Amino acid sequence: MGISTTAKCDICGVERKATNHWFVASFSKSSIVQGAACIRIYAYSLDRAIQPNAAVLCGQDHLSQWTSKQVPLLFPVRETPEVDEVRDSEDSNDPN
Ligand SMILES: [Zn+2]
Repeated sequence: MGISTTAKCDICGVERKATNHWFVASFSKSSIVQGAACIRIYAYSLDRAIQPNAAVLCGQDHLSQWTSKQVPLLFPVRETPEVDEVRDSEDSNDPN
């Protein structure tokens, strides 16, 4: 990440060379759907790499590692056990 033209993997720091196995990934917490997160994965390009929140990954392994690190940030573990929420479903509006 950064404006340098020499891309480095955000996981291992290796410099990018002539290979097409690199990825750029980014995530967004403020997604359209509440409680959901959006992780985008792109084939590497410099334009993508310099975007805010973009991660540069040297390959599929480190793309996976990066993703694994984001998930707990995007979905923090709740302190209270998760219970099936009782929802006011549209069915409850049934006059019968
Ligand atoms: Zn790497």
